Amino acid sequence: MLSEFDIIDRYFTRPSPGAVLGVGDDAALIKPARGMELAVSTDMLVAGQHFFADADPRKLGHKSLAVNLSDMAAMGARPRWAILSLALPEPTVRTDEKWLEAFADGFFGLAQAHQVDLVGGDTTRGPLAISVTIIGEVATGKALRRSGARPGDDIWISGQLGDAALALAHVQRRMVLEPGEITGCLSALHTPTARVELGQRLIGLADSAIDISDGLLADLGHILKSSKVAAVINISEINCSAAMKRCLPRALALECLLAGGDDYELCFTVPRSRRKKIEMLSLEQRIPLTRIGEIDEGEGLVVLDAAGNTITLETKGYDHFHV
Ligand code: ADP
Ligand code: MG
Repeated sequence: MLSEFDIIDRYFTRPSPGAVLGVGDDAALIKPARGMELAVSTDMLVAGQHFFADADPRKLGHKSLAVNLSDMAAMGARPRWAILSLALPEPTVRTDEKWLEAFADGFFGLAQAHQVDLVGGDTTRGPLAISVTIIGEVATGKALRRSGARPGDDIWISGQLGDAALALAHVQRRMVLEPGEITGCLSALHTPTARVELGQRLIGLADSAIDISDGLLADLGHILKSSKVAAVINISEINCSAAMKRCLPRALALECLLAGGDDYELCFTVPRSRRKKIEMLSLEQRIPLTRIGEIDEGEGLVVLDAAGNTITLETKGYDHFHV
């Protein structure tokens, strides 16, 4: 059986050109570039709660970093360093070597694509859990915050919403997707794309931003609360896949669209005068960016359907403490 040190040596020690000192000492040493401040965020994924214990380890490696990259994107920060803490069960039928190799592959594949260095972590035995801390850089004072939305701002979202939640509903047999729809939805669930470049490009354009991890309503709700503003959105403006369009307007599909988790798209608000700039950015980044509503004075979120009627939903988003 591999010792803790073998595991670290074999699977998690790689060159870290962007750090002063990486894995192997009691602490890593990192140095932000001049004029930058550090953005730090952490996310924990627990087997049985956030993923199935028998999940594909390569995809798990990807996702555990992707969800953190998404937090950097939401701040407009450039991700640079990661710290990985793993609780690994005693090896069983699936040798942990195979699992670790695939996990590391998924993790480093995405890390390298974004020039993120793994600079440290912790490795113990225990029920399978993965915690990644990400550290990024953003020009001092420029980070995108939840609190900056202003009345008159347009509300934008990137990409398409709801597919990850549709996939989960399908896996849990609460919904039946057609064969041609399954692959796309499953990849939204298991290998999400964080909008890292887009987030950095929104600096100087967006007044506020958040990444949609708990569902649009909940996450837009966080912007409204932090910014002390209200909003109106129209669900017919929300960009979604053909699979989602086929499943709507069933209540479960609507719930996936508005309150499903795991989208990892950005929701951001921008003064109306910058509409053209956002449209240009969408073309340049080749990411659909759609305007779904606007920020108003006051408080609360009004959700309209295509006919302009107000929709009321039971759930507002995924909440690990109330499910
Ligand atoms: P300590 O006993 O000082 O906490 P450890 O033995 O836990 O140190 O870790 C040794 C080195 O390996 C440290 O630099 C730590 O950051 C790194 N490390 C431990 N686990 C991981 C991991 N899963 N991924 C990356 N680095 C790790
Ligand atoms: Mg340790």
